[in-house]
Parts: sequence; C-alpha cells; structure tokens
Amino acid sequence: MVRSVFHRRPVVIANWKMYLGAAESVRAAHAIRRLTARLAGRDAEIVLCPCFPVLAEVRGALVGSRLQLGAQELHHEPSGPYTGDVSANQLRGLIRYVVVGHSERRRFHGETDEMVARKVQQALRAGFSPIICVGETTEEREEEKTIAKVRRQVEIVVRELSRLSLSRCLFAYEPVWAISAGPGMEGPQPDPAEAAHLMRLVRKVAADRIGSSAAERVRVLYGGSVTAKTVRPFVSEPGVDGVLVGGASTKPAEFAAIVREVVAACRS
Ligand code: PEP
Repeated sequence: MVRSVFHRRPVVIANWKMYLGAAESVRAAHAIRRLTARLAGRDAEIVLCPCFPVLAEVRGALVGSRLQLGAQELHHEPSGPYTGDVSANQLRGLIRYVVVGHSERRRFHGETDEMVARKVQQALRAGFSPIICVGETTEEREEEKTIAKVRRQVEIVVRELSRLSLSRCLFAYEPVWAISAGPGMEGPQPDPAEAAHLMRLVRKVAADRIGSSAAERVRVLYGGSVTAKTVRPFVSEPGVDGVLVGGASTKPAEFAAIVREVVAACRS
C-alpha cells in the first residue's frame, strides 16, 4: 500500500530567478515537461516560474501538459505609475501561481511584511495561489530570533485572510542563510528536523487564524539550495508538502531528479 507522508499532493516549484534567457527558458520548459511527464499533475504539482518576459512563451511550451506556470513576483497595487513593475491584473490569464515575499525581493527591493501582505491580497483577488516566502537571516538566527521572525512574517499575511483565501496559499520556509547558493551549488543547510519545526510553526499560525482542520489544507514547503542529493530528508519530515527550488531548477535533469526524490519520499 502506498503511504503518503504528505496530507496533500506534494508541490515542487522551479524559481528560475534571473538565470535563464528566453530560448533557454523555453528549452528548459520542454525538457522538464518531457522528463516529468509521468509524474506531473498526478504524483506532484510542478510549477515553473520563469522571468516576466518569457511567461507567455513558456506557457506555450506547457500547453497540453500538467505543468503549471507561476510568476516570480507581482506589485502590491493593481495599477499605477510604477515603471518596471508588473501587477496582478497584467498577469491574469497567464499564470496560476506567484511567488511573493522572496528574501531576494525583501533584501534588494526593500519589500516589507506589509507590502508582502498586500501582494498576497492582490494575488488572491486575481485568482492566483500565492507562494509566500518567509525565513530568518543569519543575524536573526544567531540572536535566536528565528521563531519570532517567522511567526511575525506569517501573522502579518494571515491576519486579513478568510479561511477560503488562506487555504489557497502556499508558504515556503526558506532560511535566508541557506538559499541562493547558485545553480548546482550546495550551501549550508539547516537540520531537516529543525526546518520542519519552523514549517509546523507556519501551519500553527495559520491554524490560529482559521482553525486546525482548515489549516491542514495550507501547503508548506521548504526552500534552501536543495539538490537531488540533499532534498530527501527535508521532504521526509511529516507535514512538509514539497520544495521551492532555485538554482538547481535551472538544470532540467537535476530538477526532474528532485521531483522524483520528492515523489519517492511521499510514497515511502
Ligand atoms: C529560492 O529561490 O526560493 C531558492 C530556494 O533558491 P535556491 O534553491 O537557489 O537557494
């Protein structure tokens, strides 16, 4: 009998950041489509998040497959004088998922928890599922502020959300000191049990808002420079619903191997 450690179908998200160009993105999408054809949609929800200019082309490459498309970011206003930004309205009809609150946005673009909460509202209003990134920096970890930081980041987002809205959200616990090692690189990793503890905290904060049985529907992922070699212990922890993959997802064979690892952990 197949026993799942996941309450929900696992989710594996590829965040291509600013790594792949247009032709490379389309090639990667075709390759991932081919390499994950037997697992996509049935055993795992697989989401590709290319850069804005190639969303439409990558969407074309995914037509007829069970792969899903996501954006890496959206603006917290529905429209306005924000040169270079992209709103939820402008993404309508293109995507199903959107990453918000990524630590690289918080760090390099000064995004605050309040802005992240407004982005989540925009995403939900447009019918998208937001993938909300939370996690502590090195300094916060050293000062033992991890729990307070993650709790606050989640609380600010969930306090305005209804049960229905929150059940459409995904959270990714991504310790800032563990992510962005680079394609094919392995960086420092937390203890998987410690990471799972933080992911349970995320679900607990959601449960405080909407009740524990509704919070069971919220998907909570791990992210932190995982590779096919390192991902298994993280997704084998109970209550962990999958992974958000950055650098390693730009290599289709590696990303497909990560998907297989996640599905295998789910079945064991
Ligand atoms: C990410 O972009 O969310 C991420 C986890 O990146 P990486 O895997 O490169 O650390």
